[in-house]
Amino acid sequence: MPLAGVAMKLNALNKMITPFGDTAQMPVLFLGHGSPMNAIEENEFVTGFRNVAKTIPRPAAILCVSAHWETKGTFVTAMEKPKTIHDFGGFPQALFDVQYPAPGSPELARETKNIIKKTEIGLDEKWGLDHGAWSVIKHLYPNADVPVIQLSLDHYQTPQYHYDLAKQLASLRRKGVLIIGSGNMVHNLGMVAWDKLNDDEYGYDWAFEANEKMKKFILSNDHQQLINFKNQGKTFDLAIPTPEHFLPLLYALALKEENEKVNIFNDKAVAGSLTMTSAKISGV
Ligand code: ZN
Repeated sequence: MPLAGVAMKLNALNKMITPFGDTAQMPVLFLGHGSPMNAIEENEFVTGFRNVAKTIPRPAAILCVSAHWETKGTFVTAMEKPKTIHDFGGFPQALFDVQYPAPGSPELARETKNIIKKTEIGLDEKWGLDHGAWSVIKHLYPNADVPVIQLSLDHYQTPQYHYDLAKQLASLRRKGVLIIGSGNMVHNLGMVAWDKLNDDEYGYDWAFEANEKMKKFILSNDHQQLINFKNQGKTFDLAIPTPEHFLPLLYALALKEENEKVNIFNDKAVAGSLTMTSAKISGV
């Protein structure tokens, strides 16, 4: 075999052993995704997503924890080509027409399974990318050329469990993997002010109050208060009636190192009872 051929084979072999090489520490994002319509609308939140992507080194792959994939046990998507899941109803056809054909990464799925010791991680072949993932990642990487996997939320576990599990993902940050939690800090669909949908920045007092308190805990590194969100009183009860949109925030925060900065962006309320508040935990 010519030498170039041997080198190529060795290169391919090396790639199989270490698909994700060592990199500088990647940032971690929490993205408030809000309405699925953000996938196809032009607005300040979409601009916020695009702008934050410009500050991040190009990732080797993305691991996304979406509010919209709850399971019994924890799974990672492990297929080569995840399908675009339109997991909503009552929206215009244009939204159902959106495809986000980013490749999957079976290698990253296996790596994720290997590094999490807290529980057995299942390799999933059926899910794909739900709108919690594609409606925002689409704005970060519009060419759909960065591989994406999702990690599910075990519906039956406590907030502390999720926070502790998330910590075990830390080594991925030095392998070029961008970890994204996608949810909403304040998310009460039952109290949406339907008559205020077109009102910029309309929020109930309790929504602003909860949002401010959450930011304070984030910026002062007081994660325990957020993990204990069920004991924070009335405003948090209204802001987090069910935990699935809040838990992705705990995944992001669990990965923050003591000396890292947090930048808050898209910090606005919409429809009364949601906030789009997002955070970037800066890499080093
Ligand atoms: Zn959602």
